[in-house]
Amino acid sequence: MRLPMIAGNWKMNTTVGEAVELVNEMRKELDTVDGVDKVICPPFVSLAVVRELIKGSSIMLGAQNMYFEEKGAYTGEISPVMLADLCEFVIIGHSERRQYFNETGEIINKKVQAALKVGLKPILCIGERLEENKAGRTKEVVTKQLSSALAKIDSLNGLIIAYEPVWAIGTGRAATGKQANDTIGLIRQTISQKYDKKIAQNLRILYGGSVTAENTAEFMQQPEIDGALVGGASLKANEFLSIVRQTSEIRAR
Ligand code: PEP
Repeated sequence: MRLPMIAGNWKMNTTVGEAVELVNEMRKELDTVDGVDKVICPPFVSLAVVRELIKGSSIMLGAQNMYFEEKGAYTGEISPVMLADLCEFVIIGHSERRQYFNETGEIINKKVQAALKVGLKPILCIGERLEENKAGRTKEVVTKQLSSALAKIDSLNGLIIAYEPVWAIGTGRAATGKQANDTIGLIRQTISQKYDKKIAQNLRILYGGSVTAENTAEFMQQPEIDGALVGGASLKANEFLSIVRQTSEIRAR
């Protein structure tokens, strides 16, 4: 049985004060929902304060990115060692990082390796662009992204994958439950071939792309989907809570 996970990616939103406000709005109720891992990923500058606010609760913390070197002359970067001291998860390879910051498969692979080395759990994002989807290249694209991101990695212990079709992120145009389930099934199959069946069966694979309180049930009813990476809707306390609650209820059935 894979425990579902709902992770909120706040992206480049919230000042420290706003992050405190948002956590205070959702903390108490979020803490009471069980049967689902609840992760929030605020911007770097709010990690320390949010960590204090959720201490002793069942809410977990993640970062949105990191550099792959441990320390040194890399002005402005944040290292895996720094994060391991603050949080449990780190989003790696988000399509916005691939698109706006030129993150290649090679860079993402180095980041995944570096995160696993210090005990951080990477939430590795993969997904095809609209033109690739239209050209029927989804399988080819996600398989290629997977194999470059996981090159030279023997153990997937701690790793989580988020299938996020680029055309669904922040567009309000989510994939259908079936589409997401089919592609996640393919990803699991690829992992099974590359590693083994048991590893693939234990691996959590989330869907991400315009998940809201309205469409959550459609995704969570699918057997291959183990939760969601939520962007926009994670910035609204009530909506995020509703997504988490629905996930818990559906998966408990
Ligand atoms: C994301 O940021 O990973 C994401 C899926 O965003 P949104 O839910 O806003 O589409």
